Amino acid sequence: MDAARSPTGDTRQLIYLDHAATTPLDPRIDEAMRRASADAFANPSSPHAAGRRARAILEDARERLVALLGGRSAGGSRDRLIFTSGATEANRLGMLGTAGPHPGTVGISPRDHGSVIAAAADLAARGWEVRRLPLAADGSASGAAAILAASTPGRVLLSTTLVCGQTGIRESPVPLAETGVGERLFVHADATQAAAWDALSFATLPLTTLALAPHKFGGPRGIGGLLVRGGVDVMPLTPGPQELGLRGGTEAVPLAVGFAVALHLAAAARDEMRLRTANLRDRFENQFVAAAGRHGLDAMVVGHGADRAPHIATMAVRGCDRQAFMMACDLAGIALATGTACASGSSDPSPAILALDLPGWVAQSAIRASVGPSTTETDITEAVHRLDRVFRGIAEAGLHAASGAG
Ligand code: PLP
Repeated sequence: MDAARSPTGDTRQLIYLDHAATTPLDPRIDEAMRRASADAFANPSSPHAAGRRARAILEDARERLVALLGGRSAGGSRDRLIFTSGATEANRLGMLGTAGPHPGTVGISPRDHGSVIAAAADLAARGWEVRRLPLAADGSASGAAAILAASTPGRVLLSTTLVCGQTGIRESPVPLAETGVGERLFVHADATQAAAWDALSFATLPLTTLALAPHKFGGPRGIGGLLVRGGVDVMPLTPGPQELGLRGGTEAVPLAVGFAVALHLAAAARDEMRLRTANLRDRFENQFVAAAGRHGLDAMVVGHGADRAPHIATMAVRGCDRQAFMMACDLAGIALATGTACASGSSDPSPAILALDLPGWVAQSAIRASVGPSTTETDITEAVHRLDRVFRGIAEAGLHAASGAG
């Protein structure tokens, strides 16, 4: 359980089930960043010894990240990692930075994060044709993306979200032949929800860019990265001499160190954490549905049976309003989400759920719970215990009966 108190101010501890939005900072990473703050306080662009020391630490973090992501770290066409402020900026740089001067066709899907959709809208304003790809029955858009790539002449930019931030459903990289990728075809992968759980091998995948951010796996907020395939040109969104001329602004060396340590720790414990996290998630899902059922409510798990990352559970309760349900959980001391954090507060149902072939009430009532390394068995037991009371309240208030037609 998290040290924070429930928002009602009572003494129960908050049960934090919103790790897909952001994770608590791992103390080991915090410690590594403290050391780096002392050691690499100088501006890495300064030519003096302190600056050179900061530069060496920054470049070491960068190299370690490229290696951990399976990028090519040697040779003339080695892959480059550009530090950004987070995955939003990395998605934007990956999409707009590789677009080039002449309009083409951009393929996006309902799986994509708002930052990808917004980048595609910017491309549309520059004359690009935006194609919204449908999801297949398995929740993936990569088949439709491959068809678009094969059937569309000229420059094609495809977005692939390796793990959907709303449902946790995985997607295989777009099945493209290596030829043409980086010349006519550009494939941007959003690996933000995938990087902790799936070993990535950037060098062997038909991708041109890949975005991620460490605050999704125990690392710091305020930094992210875009891995760029060797030889692919990127136009900076913020010009300046830093980051190989691809992103201006003094680099945050301690955050870069925290990023590298976070991915190293995630990779080192990946198999064990995947299993543990999936077990906690499955227990939560099963007990959530059972608890709803005990109060006569009809609940389901979105993407049950699909290939999913282990940390995200999206559940729907027939007839419940997702905002009201999330607020009732908040009052009960359970932090969960109605969807991706960038879309929270939005009154629109999630496009990623609407695009699945599900009854209408599912998107209206879907909430997202997400677990992480700091989640315990006790958290799940206590969350279900508190949910039981939330469901009882809903059943007694007759909200379900009043609005349950959907
Ligand atoms: N992409 C996905 C799939 C996400 O889930 C998120 C955050 O929720 C982002 C991008 C944006 O990440 P950041 O908050 O680091 O900008």
